[in-house]
Order: sequence, then structure tokens, then C-alpha cells
Amino acid sequence: MGWDFETEPEFQEKLDWMDEFVREEIEPLDLAFRDSIMAYDRRNPIYKEITGPLKQEVKKRGLWACHLGPDLGGKGFGQLKLGLMNEILGRSGWAPNIFGCQAPDSGNAEILAHYGTEEQKKKYLQPLLDGELVSCYSMTEPQAGSDPKEFQCRAFKDGNEWVIEGEKWFSSHADIADFLITMVVTDTDVPIYQGASMFLIERGTPGVEFKRMTGLAGESIGEGHHAYIHYNQVRVPEENLLGGPGQAFAIAQKRLGGGRIHHAMRTVAQVRKALDMMCERVLSRRTQGEVLAKKQMVQEYVADSFIQLQQFRLLVLYAAWLIDKGDRDGARTYIAAVKVQAAEVMHDVVRRALQVHGSLGCSNEMPLASMWSSVPLMGVMDGPTEVHKVTVAKQVLKEYQPSEGMFPSMHLPPRIEAARERFARYFEHEVANS
Ligand SMILES: Cc1cc2nc3c(=O)[nH]c(=O)nc-3n(C[C@H](O)[C@H](O)[C@H](O)COP(=O)(O)OP(=O)(O)OC[C@H]3O[C@@H](n4cnc5c(N)ncnc54)[C@H](O)[C@@H]3O)c2cc1C
Repeated sequence: MGWDFETEPEFQEKLDWMDEFVREEIEPLDLAFRDSIMAYDRRNPIYKEITGPLKQEVKKRGLWACHLGPDLGGKGFGQLKLGLMNEILGRSGWAPNIFGCQAPDSGNAEILAHYGTEEQKKKYLQPLLDGELVSCYSMTEPQAGSDPKEFQCRAFKDGNEWVIEGEKWFSSHADIADFLITMVVTDTDVPIYQGASMFLIERGTPGVEFKRMTGLAGESIGEGHHAYIHYNQVRVPEENLLGGPGQAFAIAQKRLGGGRIHHAMRTVAQVRKALDMMCERVLSRRTQGEVLAKKQMVQEYVADSFIQLQQFRLLVLYAAWLIDKGDRDGARTYIAAVKVQAAEVMHDVVRRALQVHGSLGCSNEMPLASMWSSVPLMGVMDGPTEVHKVTVAKQVLKEYQPSEGMFPSMHLPPRIEAARERFARYFEHEVANS
């Protein structure tokens, strides 16, 4: 019997250790240092002092930067185990950094490991895995995100250099990154899926101009860590091409699968936090002579939230299991489904949790309002919900055929007739008896 929802005891021990470590040692960092970028900023003088001993402890336990497969020099935990680990790390904004698996560095490490030359791996991958460098993934453009066919940032070859001209939008962490991985159109004679290439661009390269930093809700205009960049005739040597010319989309595809599972399991952690807050509150707050938990509408909030969370968690773990089994086609459907569902579950559960906290829930004295402000991001970053739904629908429809005749294959009259023919002798008996 192959189905099993249990975790092997040795790995469970690791998870238990992680759970306590994250709660006791890392979550207080989220409270003390509330600017989320600090968890990433290697240049901040106190970053090393705070994270050094914690990272050391993680390394001692063999849990540092576990996201690479054994073929890429990693530990080869597989997506299911990584998923369970990320369910714990998702409790804290700092935790992925302390465990060396923060986005976008983890995805960038994956593509460097897959496509990098020996020289590129030495220069970028190893220090990235060691947590010494910060990277940025620069793909979205101001006029186009989810449809790459609209991308305009171009590069042309000049001697043994490439010259990049164009704009990129929402390049997260570009301001603190040591290098950027930038997708650029290098051949306009073929469809973009064969005509775009990836470049490694070092910090300080002349022509990388930040038009402005864009922030999220709650940050002032001009603040924030998502860069609007003008690549103004940026020259990079040809050895900075990652993979071959025209390989950008194959490369981009590589960094998304596992990353989406990790991100989804971090969402499970956030949703569980919201449910925990909801349950504690409804057992504590009284109205009209009884606690909120006695009200049927509130019970519905709790039940629906619990069911949605469990359904989502199992969906993510199933997607991870498919990836581990090597079922790429099946995994594609489920990864897209997970991406859709993450946004919906977060939306529904956080809204209910905030609602039962009333004015306190709306305030900045609970984490709920800030969680709520991150809900819309979930349905946009890494591609909008609609695009992932299209993927799910296309994948699902591959399994179906149009009906042969005028009526659907489940049309009852011919099916009843065929079934009655099969059991005709019983009907003859029935007629004879009547
Ligand atoms: C927090 C955050 C961090 C990000 N970090 C990065 C980063 O580091 N690097 C990077 O390159 N990008 C990053 N992005 C950008 C992100 O990848 C894009 O926002 C995303 O791909 C969508 O592109 P867009 O914003 O241009 O929206 P558009 O493509 O303009 O889409 C806008 C809306 O149109 C609708 N829509 C689009 N396509 C369809 C369709 N086929 N059918 C129906 N409706 C559709 C959807 O409602 C969609 O939300 C980040 C975004 C966020 C929010």
C-alpha cells in the first residue's frame, strides 16, 4: 500500500527541532526588526552579528540551503520534505534567510546550478549558497508582466560583449543585490520563447540605472525594494550569458516548480497563524452573554477555514509528491492549481480572522491587517491567478475528447436503452408478471 501521510521518525525529529528553533530563536527577530528587507540585507552591519550564530546552528544540523537536488550538489531532500520544512519556515520572514533558502536566491541558485558554467558557479553560485551574496531576478517590464510576448528589453552583440537596452519593473531586492539575472530579447526573428536569453549582471555595472524603488501598501512613495530599472546600454561580457542564447524560458521554467511549492507551504504557515488567532479570539471574546465561538456564523468561519487550510495543504503536498515522482506533466497542473488556491485560501481565512477581531483586527496592533495587505500580492506575483487557471484548464482538458454525436456521451436515453438491452431478460420477466 503506497499511500502514507506519516513522516518518517528521523525526519520528524528534524522538523520538531526546526519548529522549536523558529519559534524560540527566529520569530522574535520579526518582532524586533520590523523592516522586512533587513532579513535579506547582507550589507547591514548588524545582519551578520544577528544571523551568524543562528546560521551556524542550522549548518550544524545539516539543514542549511537544502533546496538543491543531489544532481546539483545539494542534499536531495526532495520537494515533499522541503515542503514540510517550509511549512515551518513560513512562520517567519527571517527564517528562510537563516536556513539559506530565501527567494529569489533559492530559485536563482537552482538555475545557476543547472545552467551555469564552472566559472559562473564559482563566482555566483557558491557564494549565493553560502549566504554571502544577494541576487535579483529581473524579468517583468513596466508594460508587460504575464505576457512575455510584449517584452521589449533587447540586447545585441558588439564584439565579445552584449549591449542591453530597455526597462524592467518590480525587480525585487535589486537595491541590495550583488548581481541580477535579467531576461532580455536577443533574437527578434523568432518567437520570444526561443529568442530571449538570460544575463548575469554585476552590481555597479555602468548603465544599470534605478529609475525609482517601488514599495508595497504601507510604504511611502519612493520607499520600497522593487526596482524600476533602466538598462541603459549596459555592456556585459559574453561569458555572462547564462545557458545558451535563446534559452531564457527553459531556464525560467526551471526556477518555478519547487519554488512554488516552498512558497505555498509558507502560505500554509501564514494561514495557520490566522486560524490560530481566529480560534483563540472566538473562545475569548464575549458578546450577548456568550463567547463568539457559540455563534453559528462564527462556527462556520472556523469550520470553513480549517477545511480550506487542510485541503490546500494536502494539494500542495500532493504536488510536491508528483514532482518527487518525476511526473512533470501531472505536477504542472497541480503547481498551477496550488498557485491559484494559495491566494484564495489566504484571502478567505485572513479575512475571517480579521473580522472576528473587530477593530483590533483592523489595527496595527495585530498582524492581521498586514497579512491582509499581502493578500493581493499572492494572486499576482509569479504570474496572475487567471494565467494559472488557464494552465489548469488546458491541462485538465487534455484528458477529454469532444462527444461524437449531437448529444453528450452522458445523454440518458441511449444509455438507458443500451443498459436495458443488457438486462433484457429481467424486463421480459417484469412484463410477464404484470
Ligand atoms: C510582491 C511582488 C514581487 C515581485 N517580484 C518580481 C521580481 O523579483 N522580478 C520580476 O521580474 N517580477 C516580479 N514581480 C512582478 C510579477 O511577476 C508580475 O506582477 C506578474 O507577472 C504579473 O504581471 P503584471 O504585474 O505586469 O500584470 P499584467 O500582466 O499586466 O496583468 C494584470 C492583470 O490582468 C489580468 N490578466 C493577465 N493575463 C490574463 C489572462 N491571460 N487572462 C485573463 N486575465 C489576465 C489579471 O487580472 C492580472 O492580474 C513581482 C510582483 C509582486 C507583486
